[in-house]
Amino acid sequence: MFVIGTAGHVDHGKSTLIYALTGINPDRLREEQERQMTIDLGFAWLRLPSGREVSIIDVPGHEDFIKNMLAGVGGIDVALFVVAADEAVMPQTREHLAILDLLQVPHGVVALTKSDLVQDPEWLELVQEEVREELRGTVLETARIVPVSALTGSGLQDLLVELDRVLDAAKPKPDLGRPRLSIDRIFSIAGFGTVVTGTLIDGQLAVGDEVQVLPGDLKARIRGLQTHKVKEQAAFPGSRVAVNLSGVATEELYRGQVVTQPGWLEPTTLLSARLRFLSNAPWPLKHNSELEFYTGSARVVAHVRILDRGELAPGETGWVQFRLDEPIAVVRGDRYIVRLASPSLTLGGGEVVQPQAPRRYPRFHPEVSVQLEALSRGTPEELLLQLLAGGVMLETPELVKRSALPTEEATRALQTLVANGQLILLAEETPRARGPLHGSSLALTRQTWQALLTQIADVLKAYHTRFPLRAGMPREELKSRLQAGLGSFNATLDRAADEGLLIVTPLVVRLPQHRVVLSPEQHRAVDRALAAFRANPYTPPSLAQVQEELGPELLQFLLEEGRLIKASDSVLFDADTYTEMERRVVAYLEEHQRITVAEVRDLFGASRKYALGFLEDLDRRRVTKRLEDVRVLR
Ligand code: GDP
Ligand code: MG
Repeated sequence: MFVIGTAGHVDHGKSTLIYALTGINPDRLREEQERQMTIDLGFAWLRLPSGREVSIIDVPGHEDFIKNMLAGVGGIDVALFVVAADEAVMPQTREHLAILDLLQVPHGVVALTKSDLVQDPEWLELVQEEVREELRGTVLETARIVPVSALTGSGLQDLLVELDRVLDAAKPKPDLGRPRLSIDRIFSIAGFGTVVTGTLIDGQLAVGDEVQVLPGDLKARIRGLQTHKVKEQAAFPGSRVAVNLSGVATEELYRGQVVTQPGWLEPTTLLSARLRFLSNAPWPLKHNSELEFYTGSARVVAHVRILDRGELAPGETGWVQFRLDEPIAVVRGDRYIVRLASPSLTLGGGEVVQPQAPRRYPRFHPEVSVQLEALSRGTPEELLLQLLAGGVMLETPELVKRSALPTEEATRALQTLVANGQLILLAEETPRARGPLHGSSLALTRQTWQALLTQIADVLKAYHTRFPLRAGMPREELKSRLQAGLGSFNATLDRAADEGLLIVTPLVVRLPQHRVVLSPEQHRAVDRALAAFRANPYTPPSLAQVQEELGPELLQFLLEEGRLIKASDSVLFDADTYTEMERRVVAYLEEHQRITVAEVRDLFGASRKYALGFLEDLDRRRVTKRLEDVRVLR
């Protein structure tokens, strides 16, 4: 469904026109009817000649109520831009046009109202020329101008046909699977309770849905839905919806809050945006100026930080951040308007580029503009890469959330980036089991991945230099040396090993080119030590002796290489001897079923200390089992 919104100067006949077209008086408040002036938004609906049903929002033209106008104009598809033929262009004609242009309202039709008051066809021609001139360079540049009179009914049929024609070309509001309804009215109905209304965008709502109201983090459930006073089970993007909510009181709600599905939208107080400063602004916009910030149906006080220049001259567009006095719920791409309250002036507007700015950016840094440009312009792929620029690593659900892209679009972009190697996903679970995009994986760019590998290589290189005789760095030690928060450490090592950049064993990690190389001197020392073992194989030098002779590093090397076996804290054997002893003990046990420490001692002519150390090691290795004073085979 589509929403048509009126716009134009006060008293130019907007409300009268809507009444004439729909039979519904949009001035619903008693005060409005007494004063014969629109104060707040009015709502009506209509079936066009094509049979298409459309919603209408009628806005106040008076400059005192422009904040109400802004609350209604946000979600409209077509502007019904009203200019009275007898008065032509007036101040709010211009201001409303500027607002429609800043909001990039995609379609429009101009109704030249009160044409019955202008008898002279040349005058009518002149007014049309003036209006045409005014529209030049705006979103309404190509809009048709249709002279009408609500009094005589002339031109009304033409106007309806033109609205149909324009809507034939209009794109329906997309369904992104994330409904948002910016509240513009709140009331309560006896027997039903709280009702809010708004224009639904980006998704559907259904009776029974759990919803969240933001800011304020209120939880509620949808009891009922209506569009154009007709009950519905579900409401679709682009329609005007009245939502009956259970679980919230009207006092907890205010215009500008957003009804949405729970758990994804976070209100913000610092956002980055592109700002177009209107060319008819009377002075340049100063850094830190206080403004009124309007988006959806929300209005908050904000301070503007001008990032890319000293001040924004009339007609210029720049990168800014807004610090908001109160939070609002917006997503990337939402449009906004900024005004001055006093004197009452619309100054500019634009597009929210980064709803959750991570920080106040420094001013006059070109790279900040480049980043914001990419965020605003980019394809989904560019956007994801931008969010991961500068070494950022994000879990995939968080990345999708920050992109504000529809989930399917973000998933498709992720797949493309992974397929062409620009993005790396590190999943702790095996990708085959669950698919790389299901559950959570750590996402990082190829550059970040290269930097991470370089960091690992540097750490390992330093380790290998410091401990040339060690096979590698213990995994836990490496992990503690890497960037805090590297949650997917195992996945990182696995992938680096797959790419042939690391050798990973259950205990240590090393660079592929790392080899333990002994100096000639170390060689001689090792040969000497091993000779001493062979000289007295069953009563060899103790661990303390070897350590004294070789030093801890060379000893560790012989142990890691498996040339020496450590049987206990003090007992070492050389590997061949150990194997031979084990074979003989096992053979003895196969014959005699049991063996004592004394028997082992006698078998090898070793001291009791060595016999005991050896047997205990066999127990530990589950070759033998101790039964009181004897060992048996396990
Ligand atoms: P709005 O402020 O733009 O909504 O203007 P209204 O609809 O309240 O109309 C303002 C005044 O213009 C009212 O007194 C209307 O009766 C009068 N008016 C509206 N449309 C016409 C029209 O087509 N012809 C004439 N003669 N008067 C009109
Ligand atoms: Mg009105």
